[in-house]
Amino acid sequence: MSTSVDERVTDEVEALEAILMDDVVIKRVDDVPQSIETVVHPSTGDDTDQQYVCVTLEVKLTPGYPDNSPEVTLRNPRGLDDALLAAINSQIQEKLIDCLGQPVVFELLELIRENLTESNLPSGQCVICLYDFTEGDVFIKTQCYHYFHSHCLASHLIAGRKYYQEELEKLPNWQQMQAPPYQQTCPVCRCALTCDVDTLKKAPAPVESITAPPFRLTAELKALQLKMAALLSQQVAKGGVVAVGDTGPPPLTITSPADNENEASIGSASALPDAKPELGNGHNGNASHDAPGSPQRGYKGPYRGFNRRGKPGRRGRGASR
Ligand SMILES: [Zn+2]
Ligand SMILES: [Zn+2]
Repeated sequence: MSTSVDERVTDEVEALEAILMDDVVIKRVDDVPQSIETVVHPSTGDDTDQQYVCVTLEVKLTPGYPDNSPEVTLRNPRGLDDALLAAINSQIQEKLIDCLGQPVVFELLELIRENLTESNLPSGQCVICLYDFTEGDVFIKTQCYHYFHSHCLASHLIAGRKYYQEELEKLPNWQQMQAPPYQQTCPVCRCALTCDVDTLKKAPAPVESITAPPFRLTAELKALQLKMAALLSQQVAKGGVVAVGDTGPPPLTITSPADNENEASIGSASALPDAKPELGNGHNGNASHDAPGSPQRGYKGPYRGFNRRGKPGRRGRGASR
């Protein structure tokens, strides 16, 4: 082998570019191909609407390829579950061993495509209703290769438009005029969508949502409801819940520096950020003695020394003894 590019590699890369054209990206350094990247789809003839899965294949050409195996990575899987990805990856490893000494990228493409064609159905759940995709379900694949029951996506987009409209109407007129029109987005990746909601709306509800047993309030659920209600009232009392209406204290209380100092002197916590630890007092370096939210030791930010006025920390430490 010379320092020039191996002829087998040049031929393979030329063939890939001739066949896949814009669908393949070859990265080169000084005209030497370094890596090959392409998105693999299942074989569905020319009907790309029927492709429900895809994966990006990246092949890094290691020095000495094809006499050495390249580094192969599968990225951005869409509609494929972990088990299937693992199966494809192990087939790839076998193929790399079988093909040592000869260009392997076309073989890999074929292997992955066969697997995708066999599994050309979304796996996993619809993230909107959390039911699986089953026989008889009507579902849609978005431009970004995410799947939803058509029925669910319609409900989601209708709700999204309604919310947008409600928020828009709260704005002053001049802002309403300048607001961009409502844009449908994918609930998973926020990619812009162009879906015909009227058509989606006609799809039946997910099969599993119809066949699921009717909801029953079990003793277990009742106990959970009680536990959650207690937790909610506790959070409301502390102002941790931004509730609709005006029940409970305001969710955000703005305090002045003076308030902070008073609070620090009442508590037993040391808020003095860079006080020298007093040896032998049992409190050395104990972070729990800093007031919550006070700058940490070593803190160099704009609020450095904020709590030092009036030495609340020293007083605090005295109180804790
Ligand atoms: Zn759904
Ligand atoms: Zn998406």
